[in-house]
Amino acid sequence: MATGFFWSEDTFWHGGGNYALTLPVGGLVQPMVAGGLPEGPETKRRFRNLLDITGLAEELVMSGAERASYEDLARVHPTTYLDEFKSASDQGGGELGLRTPFGPGAFEIAARSAGLAKSAVAAVAKGELNNAYALCRPPGHHCLPDWPNGFCLLNNIAIATEAARAEGLVDRVAILDWDVHHGNGTEAVYYGRGDTLTISVHQEHNYPLDTGDLSDRGQGAGVGANINIPLPPGVGHAGYLQVMEQIVLPALHGFKPDMIIVACGFDASAFDPLSRMMATAETFAVMTRQVMAAAQELCDGRLVCVHEGGYSEAYVPFCGHAVMSALAASDITAPDPMEATLKRRQPNAKTEAFFAELIAEMAQELKNPPPAG
Ligand code: ZN
Repeated sequence: MATGFFWSEDTFWHGGGNYALTLPVGGLVQPMVAGGLPEGPETKRRFRNLLDITGLAEELVMSGAERASYEDLARVHPTTYLDEFKSASDQGGGELGLRTPFGPGAFEIAARSAGLAKSAVAAVAKGELNNAYALCRPPGHHCLPDWPNGFCLLNNIAIATEAARAEGLVDRVAILDWDVHHGNGTEAVYYGRGDTLTISVHQEHNYPLDTGDLSDRGQGAGVGANINIPLPPGVGHAGYLQVMEQIVLPALHGFKPDMIIVACGFDASAFDPLSRMMATAETFAVMTRQVMAAAQELCDGRLVCVHEGGYSEAYVPFCGHAVMSALAASDITAPDPMEATLKRRQPNAKTEAFFAELIAEMAQELKNPPPAG
C-alpha cells in the first residue's frame, strides 16, 4: 500500500490582515512591506515543491479533496459560529477571534483545509492508503468549537475524526500534537471524552500563555485521556526523543487506538521565529518512525499526519520532507543542509541532564492517577 499526500492550491491563497510577526500593525508597530501573519503559504508551498524536486512526490499518491461539508463542520463547531464565519467571509473577510484574520472566501478555503484532513483520515481508515499526510492550511489545532485563535479557523483534526466516526470508520482515536504550541482547541473538543486520547508536546506557555499545563488531564469520562507535556525553551533532539519514549509511546500503547493522528507542526525546529526549541529535521523523522512503529503494533499502521504550524520558510520543507520520506519508507531524502550546524548547537551535557531530569519527573507525575474531576 501507498502513502498519500493531500493538498490543494486554494489553501495557499488564504490570507488577511497586516501583521508584523504576531503584532497587528499600528501605533508603534510599522506596517510590513509584505504584510500578513507569519502563518503564510510559503512554508507549505515550498514543502510541497521540495517533494517534486527530489522525486519523492512520484512515490506518493498525490491527491486533492472535496471541501468538508457544513454537516461535517457542525459536528465540531456550533452553527452560530459557522454562520458568523461564513457571513464575514462572504462580505470580504474579517477577524472573529484572536489572530485569525481572513479575507474573502476564507470559509470555503478553511472547509477545504478540513476536507484534506477528512479525506486523508477516511482513506487510511478504509485501508485505501497505508498512511497519509494532509497539508492543511489554515491550520486547526488552536480552534475551539466556538472561538478561532492562533491562525486556526476550524479544527481540522476534530472535523476529520468526527466525520470518520460518523461513518463508523474509527472508534478510539489518539491525537499526538507535536506542534510547538499547545493544542488548546483539540484539547477543548475532547477534554470530557474517553474515546479520544489527546497528547500535546509543546513549549511551556508559548501560545496560549495560560493553557497546556501538566495537571490538565481531562474531566469526567475524559480523565486520563488528555496529556500535556510542557517543555522549557531549548529542548532539542534528545529531549524530544525522551518525551516520546518515556511518555508518548507508553500512552499510545496504554490507550490502544484504532488510528493515530499527528498534529504535525514544524515550529519546534531551531529556526522557527515563533518558538525557542532546538528540534531538527532528523528529530521529526525519528518521531515519525516511532509513531509508525506504534501504529503498526496497535492499529495496522493507520497513521495520518495533519499539518499545523511551522514558520521558517527555509527550514520547514526539510522537516516536512523528512517526515514524508519516513512515512513512505523511501530512500529518496532531502539531506538537511543545516544538520552539522544544528548538531553543534544542541544543548550541552549539563543542560541535557537538566532537561532529562525534568522530563523524567513529568513522566513519573503522569503515572500517578489523575485527580477525579
Ligand atoms: Zn504552532
